[in-house]
Amino acid sequence: MRTLDSNTSLRIAVQKSGRLTDKTLNLLEGIGFRFDDYKRSMLVQCRNFDVELLLIRDDDIPEYVEDGVCDLGFVGGNVTAEDQADVTVLYGLDYGVCRLSIAAPKNGSIKKLEDFSGKKIATSYPNLTQAFFDKKGIEVEITTLSGAVEIAPRLEVADAVSDLVSSGNTLKANGLIEIETIYESETELIRTNKPLSDGKKKLIDKIIQRIEGYQKAERSRYIMMNAPEDAIPKIRKIIPSLKSPTIVPLADEGMVAIHTVVPINTFWQVMEQLKEAGASGIVMLPIESMIT
Ligand code: ATP
Ligand code: ZN
Repeated sequence: MRTLDSNTSLRIAVQKSGRLTDKTLNLLEGIGFRFDDYKRSMLVQCRNFDVELLLIRDDDIPEYVEDGVCDLGFVGGNVTAEDQADVTVLYGLDYGVCRLSIAAPKNGSIKKLEDFSGKKIATSYPNLTQAFFDKKGIEVEITTLSGAVEIAPRLEVADAVSDLVSSGNTLKANGLIEIETIYESETELIRTNKPLSDGKKKLIDKIIQRIEGYQKAERSRYIMMNAPEDAIPKIRKIIPSLKSPTIVPLADEGMVAIHTVVPINTFWQVMEQLKEAGASGIVMLPIESMIT
């Protein structure tokens, strides 16, 4: 086994157990990093790169990265922004997507922003919430809670809340109605602003490049179809192709096979148009990684 030099191995902070854990570890494995037993230990070494993972609570990640204890971290933008951490955001990743919103009881007196004046707001995000109301010139009283914020109005601990929302179901289930979004968040890859060795810098560039490839691949599908040769011009217009599609003649005279890549958000629309243009046997495959 290779021994890792603690001065050179890149340390990455990842949430130990929570909403971001599996997606972050899947992403790291997806870009070629191999780890064993990350469920059992706090510090896990990578088998094929000079990288180690520190598995900690998400709230601690920005500070660990700011202090240079970790070189990189995967954490919600909400946490980094709340902590006002001095770090560099390298990359926005489209998971852990949520928003910090202010919400009030459905049948109460708070209907719009101005109604918050003089009210008590419960939140785990006092800095972001205070900054929002300061900017709006509305005076509020903020009560900081570390969890179960959504039940604070029912317990009469507060008049309203400022809380993380993704689907909105939790708010609804607690009789709250969203009034305004304070902060839009997603998971981010953050980097320390402390000086890094050239070796670490190179490894970070490699990680970013691989994440880009992985994300592009996740958002794309490889499609294959058969079509009459004379449908090619029409099909080429439909396919917003990566580069030019691969066109191969088939044994059946006048027929070709066409292979190409399409973005997933246009996939169903493209499929229907291809069928109309004469394509048949359309097959879609996931792509593992893509470098263009
Ligand atoms: P930890 O034990 O690590 O402190 P936690 O309970 O603070 O965990 P999670 O609930 O696992 O954190 O959420 C982690 C991150 O997931 C949040 O900081 C946020 O960026 C993101 N997230 C996405 N959707 C939601 C949501 N509906 N509620 C809370 N967080 C969400
Ligand atoms: Zn947390």
